[in-house]
This record gives sequence, C-alpha cells and structure tokens, in this order.
Amino acid sequence: MTDYITLLKENDLKATIQRTSILKSIDHAGHINIDDIYEDVRELHPTLSLATIYKNIILMQEHNVIVEVPMNGEKSKFELKKDDHIHLICQGCGEIQDTDITQKTQEALVIENFQLSSSQINLYGFCQKCQSR
Ligand SMILES: [Zn+2]
Ligand SMILES: [Zn+2]
Repeated sequence: MTDYITLLKENDLKATIQRTSILKSIDHAGHINIDDIYEDVRELHPTLSLATIYKNIILMQEHNVIVEVPMNGEKSKFELKKDDHIHLICQGCGEIQDTDITQKTQEALVIENFQLSSSQINLYGFCQKCQSR
C-alpha cells in the first residue's frame, strides 16, 4: 500500500486526514471522478464538503501528487502521479486502462526545439467489452 503521508510530505504538503482519505479513494479506484471521491470520503467523514474536497484536489494537483485525466464530455477523473503512460479511455463505459509508452511512441514524442518534461496521452475509443455489445 502506498504511504500517503510520505507522499504528501515529499511534495511539500501537510498530511491532513482529508488529503490522505482522498488519496486512498483515488488509489483504490485507479481513476475516479470527484463525485465518486466525495462519496467514498463522506462515508468516513460525513461533515466534509464537496468544496473542501475540490480545494484539496486542486492543491494536490499543483503539488504533483495527483494528475487530472480529461474525459471526453464527462467529468475529469483523477489518478495518483505515476510514470508517464497512455490512457485508453472507453467512450462506452468510461473505463480507463493504463498502458505503457512504447519505444516507438517515445521516439515520436521527440520534437525539435521543444524540451518535453512530461506528457499525458489520452486515446478515446471503445474497450473490448463495449465493442462486442
Ligand atoms: Zn467500455
Ligand atoms: Zn492512468
């Protein structure tokens, strides 16, 4: 299990109970939107407001603890910061699969006169389950 307290401290954030609860929810789901995070967290902390969760999510994003994954026409999802990878996002069921960036993709990302620091590649389509529906 990820040590959320260390993770927060390493990124110059105080480890509050709100933040560790949010991280736990995100980590457990893999990729999750704010409404579902809110539901998870509220089970343990019924007094926590959506605004507070939202504020903490923004802050943790700014501190590189979590990453926003834009969804096509739906609410963004969030995940814990990991090595760069490709998202296969299903437009049918909304499921997100992580897949590694291949050597070839890596090479395609070398752009003249631009120093790449990080990348997020999101591919939209239909997963195997939704294809056979
Ligand atoms: Zn699907
Ligand atoms: Zn991911």
